[in-house]
Amino acid sequence: MGKISKFMIVLLALLALGYYWLLVNAGPANAPARTIDIAAIRRAADALPGEKPTAVTFAPMALRHIPGAALAAGTGLRQVTSGVITWRLETAGGGIVIDPGLSEADAHSMGFKFYDRRARALVDRWMDQANMILFTHAHVDHVGGFLDHPRFESIVGKAVVSEGMVGNINGLWRENARLLDQPRKLGPIEAVAPGVVLIQAPGHTPASEMIYVRLASGREYLFAGDTVSLSVNAEIPTPRSRLVADWLAPEDRPAVIGWLKGLKALKEKNPDLVIVPSHDADWLAANGDANGIAMAKELRQLAETK
Ligand SMILES: [Zn+2]
Repeated sequence: MGKISKFMIVLLALLALGYYWLLVNAGPANAPARTIDIAAIRRAADALPGEKPTAVTFAPMALRHIPGAALAAGTGLRQVTSGVITWRLETAGGGIVIDPGLSEADAHSMGFKFYDRRARALVDRWMDQANMILFTHAHVDHVGGFLDHPRFESIVGKAVVSEGMVGNINGLWRENARLLDQPRKLGPIEAVAPGVVLIQAPGHTPASEMIYVRLASGREYLFAGDTVSLSVNAEIPTPRSRLVADWLAPEDRPAVIGWLKGLKALKEKNPDLVIVPSHDADWLAANGDANGIAMAKELRQLAETK
């Protein structure tokens, strides 16, 4: 064998190894499963008196196409639609907003190609009307739209910011952050409104939360944040690729794998519970309606008249 072909074989082997490690490997496989105590969560959801939310609406704000394996290791290079999506729980009051998205400038610097300014304006109005604003975690694509709200002083008091989220928020260098109230001391499972429960789920960030919602109809949702960026994360289960999770957006990978194992087991025992992925625009388009998650009618009308 010539020197060149030996060199090529070594090079190809290294490339294959790199591809496997960065985009396929879903380990460590022995990461212990985290238990999600659904009985305690349901009790908390029923503990606060009052009307539970009646519906879930969403607003897609930014979109881009990326290889699926980036956000779900081992799922191949087929393109998926990653979205920044804001959720609104309809309530008897002004609603509850979950993860208010980000500014156009931040969307572009993160590589999102498509940005809907009408969705941004709608989510800003949702925050004006809301009586509560919640975050699955404090990365810029989840809290940026809150910190950059044009009427920040009038909405800041509605946000439930945990002690652990403050570090991430300060890292975003927003002048507005100094107006934040004292952070909330939250238990591992804590109801914040009738039917709405925050579950501490450290892993993707040290202060990541999952948000459980039980509607007045009895339908149950678990907003899993970036632990489940794509629906397939909890189905296989498989975490984000090492390329993203070890290099671009570092996270506690064994903890995330543990939560994903726990979520898969939870879904097997409770098939009607909807685990809502944070960035899965394709899942929403295919399964949103069947799961009672409707696009905001303001944006739906615009989409139809385009
Ligand atoms: Zn995110």
